[in-house]
Order: sequence, then structure tokens, then C-alpha cells
Amino acid sequence: MNRPDDRLLTYYDSQLERHGDNAQGAAWPNEADRQRRFEVLTDVLRADMGSPLVCDLGCGTGELLRFLREQGRGDIGYIGVDRSELALSHARNKFPDARWIGLDVLSASEAELDVLECDHLVANGLFTVRHDLSHEAMWEFLGAVLARLWPRVRRSLAFNVMSPVVDWERDDLFHASHDRMARLLHGLAGRHVQMRADYGLYEYTCIALRRAPALPVSAASTMSTSVPAYRPRLPDSGQVLPYLRRIDASRIYSNHGPLVGELEARLAARLRLEQGRVICAGSGTAALVGAILATAGRATEERPYALCPAYTFVGTAVALQQCGYVPWLVDVESRAWQMQPSALLAHPALPRCGVVLPVAPYGRMPPLGEWARFRRRTGVPVVVDGAAAIEALLAAPEALAEGVPVALSFHATKALPTGEGGAVVTSDDALGLAAFRALNFGFFMTRESRGPSINGKMPEHAAALGLAGLDTWEDHHVAVQSVAAAYREAFAAAGLGERLHTAPDIASHYAIFDAPSASSSARVAAALAGAGYESRFWYGRGLQAQPALAGVPADELKVTEAIAPRLLGLPVAPDLDPAAIRRVADIVRDAHVHRPDEERGDA
Ligand SMILES: *Cc1c(COP(=O)(O)O)cnc(C)c1O
Repeated sequence: MNRPDDRLLTYYDSQLERHGDNAQGAAWPNEADRQRRFEVLTDVLRADMGSPLVCDLGCGTGELLRFLREQGRGDIGYIGVDRSELALSHARNKFPDARWIGLDVLSASEAELDVLECDHLVANGLFTVRHDLSHEAMWEFLGAVLARLWPRVRRSLAFNVMSPVVDWERDDLFHASHDRMARLLHGLAGRHVQMRADYGLYEYTCIALRRAPALPVSAASTMSTSVPAYRPRLPDSGQVLPYLRRIDASRIYSNHGPLVGELEARLAARLRLEQGRVICAGSGTAALVGAILATAGRATEERPYALCPAYTFVGTAVALQQCGYVPWLVDVESRAWQMQPSALLAHPALPRCGVVLPVAPYGRMPPLGEWARFRRRTGVPVVVDGAAAIEALLAAPEALAEGVPVALSFHATKALPTGEGGAVVTSDDALGLAAFRALNFGFFMTRESRGPSINGKMPEHAAALGLAGLDTWEDHHVAVQSVAAAYREAFAAAGLGERLHTAPDIASHYAIFDAPSASSSARVAAALAGAGYESRFWYGRGLQAQPALAGVPADELKVTEAIAPRLLGLPVAPDLDPAAIRRVADIVRDAHVHRPDEERGDA
């Protein structure tokens, strides 16, 4: 030990020995703040989806690697570097598959430093504690480390120091002057430097960029909203590969090949249906078209209309229009968010309707028994848009016995994703056959087209993803339920438990915040966007507000108009980090506050 900064190593090891492998053991006051630092320091990585290599300098026990993996960034290459063999032994135990290097950057040879070549270098907490070193000694240490590493960094370098803008500076911490830091950073990276102090801690983060991030506008906007409203995770390629090999062997790529057949059979078994009652389709919208054509056929002059709720995704109306129907928009009930069958028995347009299309909003299944009774009493066919409702159906498959066909979506953003895909499910054998035909040019067994149809078939590659999805369904289910539980916990802690809707009440790919007013939800959406969290009104303002549907007949839509701008979809991903969820809850709590004086503007 012969350099001033050697004493820092001794200090860190003593903290680790005393507190063990936790935030305090790394000389941080608490875990939540440490997670926030990880978020800020790796922010630049969010826009770098090209499997970048990260060098974690002063990696300690390797918790940044855990953070990156929990963010779903398994694509990131990682090198952990530390002088402390004690810390590295913890890291190696926890993550034996990662690269851990014991190295003293200041005494290493140029060749030894070359192994640290990386796209992004991160140093969390390496320059925040000065222990008993002087300020000057810290500046020297910082400058020397940066000078040696910067030439090995291809894109960015980020580290944190304590802020000098505080009520009192702690003697053992490095409160670094902004001016001096700016000069140091500009000396490294010219005019491509960031200093961030927008994350609530008594410190700031310094970022040096290798060159101007000349991003196209689209990439720049994904950078500013870095956590998307929904980030899907399909089974990874290793899980799909056995199925793809079967496609190689069979050389069957579509036309109800063996994988589609197997997917249909496995879904039927899970839904307690007989074979032939699940018909896969190329998309959820295609499944809807298939179910409508199979049950009601195309629109006729006598029956040009179809009742459907105004509060739904536009795909509902698009499917009706493809079958020739003019959607007639009906209002929804304020708590179930869906049409009420009893309220439509005497609907004036019913005698001119060829089909009625209830929707499962956010995956909440409509009462299929009541809709079956509605169909019997009115004679008007019913098809359910259950695009987001596969989880609800799997939880209560007996509802299908009523014979009402349900269309499911397997879109990437839905619970059982195949990229694009869907299925018609029904307990009615004849209907299953008719849907098969409607999705396959009207063909069944022969090449004779019998009846109205489209090409709505699912390809074998999509079925491969669906089968791998079923293989991993239980794990996926546990993951999404824990995201929902984390949301409930965070919103309960924020005093907003009553305003949040999550699985299993709705589908697991949604977390819906019911704001007290439209202006409140707009404020929440803006605050979330400002912090990098995307949110979404999944059903827009309702179908009546879609330009392509301007002029379609509609009832009075009071409830739709009231709830559509209030029900805000919060960010969800099967692997969304609980720290991010708590952050979302904090932002919502601070932004949502109801201001009655704004209500007039809400109309
Ligand atoms: C997702 C969705 C659709 C469309 O399904 P695709 O598979 O994207 O065609 C239709 N209706 C509702 C309610 C949906 O949520």
C-alpha cells in the first residue's frame, strides 16, 4: 500500500466485511437509492440495443450485473473490474458465468488495460467517497483513472460524485465542484458531455460521450421515453429451436401444418374443449373476421349494422368493416367497461343488426351465459372480441360451454404472444368447422370455396412461438403475477390502491390507473413521460374519435367519453423491475392530484 487511494480499498473492504453483501456493504445508505443510481448510470444503454459491452469499474460484488439482467438486458456483454478480491469473490459466487477481473487500473500495464475495452464504462461510487483523502488527492485519482480508461471506451463513460450544492458537505465524501468537473469532462470528450442531477440524490452523474449522439428523431424519442408502455418478452430462441427444427424436417410452413395442429390441440386441452374447437388464425383481427363470417356471414342489405362498444381497440371495428358491417357504437357500463346485454335487448337498431360484438376490455371476460341468452332471445348472432382474454378463459374455461365463439389475439403485446396470431375458440363443432373454412379461402378438405372467407391462416413459425410459449407458460405466469403484485403494493403504499387495476382482475399485460379526471391522467402521463416512462390510453378516446370511423352511427356515449381519457395504461413488462414500478407509483402519486377547478376544461 503506497498510494493515497489504497486507503479507499481498505475502507471499502472493511464496509463489506462489516455489513455483508448489501447496499451498506458497498458504503451506500440504502438499496433503493443504489438502484436509482444504477438506473441513471445505465440510462445511455437503453438506446443502445446493439448488444453493447459494458465495463463496470469498481464493480464490487456485481450488483449492477444483477440490475441489468433484471432489466431484461441479457444481451449486454459485461466485464466487472475491481481491486478488491474480497468483493470479487462475492461476485464470482453469485454470477459464475460473468467475467470478473481483479485489476488496479493505475498500476496496470497498457496491455492489461486493453482487456477493459468496452462500449460503455460505468463507475458507480468509485469517486463518491474520499474517506481521509484530501480533495486534491481525489481529483488526482479521478483524473488519472479517466485518462487511462477513456482511450478504451468506444461510446460512453459515466460515473457519479457528490454534489457541492448541499446544506452541509460530509468530510468523508467527495463533493466535487461542477466547474472543475466540467473542465475535466470537456477535456476528455469535447462538447459531448452531460451532467445530471435530476434524480433526487445529493450527487450528480457525469457522462462523457465519445461523439455527438447524432440520432434520428425516432431514436431520440425512444431515448426520452425509455421504459415502453409494454415491452413483450417472447420465449427466447433456444426455447423455440426444437420446434423450428421440426419445420426444417417437415418442410411444411403453413396450411395447418403439424405445429399449428399441436398448438390447437394443446390449447383445446387447456380450455377443456374437444379437438377442432380451437382454430388458429394469422392475427386476432383475422380470428374476429373468421368468427363473424362463421356465425353471421357478411352484412346484408336487411342487416347492415353490428352493435359494438365504443370503448375498445380499433381492431374490433376493423374486423366488422372487413365483413361488410357498419359498426353501431354502443356505450359501456362504467364499472365493467363493457356493453350490458340486458340493456341492448330493446336496442332500436337490433332488428337491422347482423351480429353483436361484445368486447372483453383489457381482458375482462363478458358474461358468456348472459350473451348466449341474449342470442337466443333476439336471434342475433354474438361473437366476443376476447383478444386480450386468454388468461380469463384459462381461469374459467367452463364459460365456453355456452357456445358463444370467442376470438383471441396472440399479438406480441398480449399474454400468449406469437408475434402476430390469434384463434377462434368455441364449444360448437359446426361453428369451429365454419371458422376454419372462413379463414382458409372457404376450403375444407376440397379446394372448393364454400362461403365467405379470407386467408387468415397462422403460419408454422408463429405456432412454434406459441408452443414454446405454452412450454414456459407457468414461469411466465408467475413472473407477470409478481409484476401485478408489485404494482398493487406500490400503489397501496402511495395511497392509490383503489385506483389501480391489475391482473387477475384484468389481463396481466395491463396495469390501468383510473385517474380522477381527464386532466389528472394527462398530468400523470406527462410526468411519466418526463421521467422516461411511457404510458398509453390503449383504447384512445373511444372508437367515435377515430377518424376512419367518423360518421358511423352511435348511441349517446357518456360513459365512454368519461372513462376513455381517465383509464391510463402504465408501463408493464413480464420482467419489469420492482424499483421501476415504485418509481411509477411515486410519480403518479405526485402528479395525479385532483383539482376540481380544472374540471370545466375537462369536458
Ligand atoms: C389486441 C386487440 C385486437 C387486435 O388483435 P390483433 O392480434 O392485433 O389483430 C382486437 N381487439 C382488442 C380488444 C384487442 O385488445
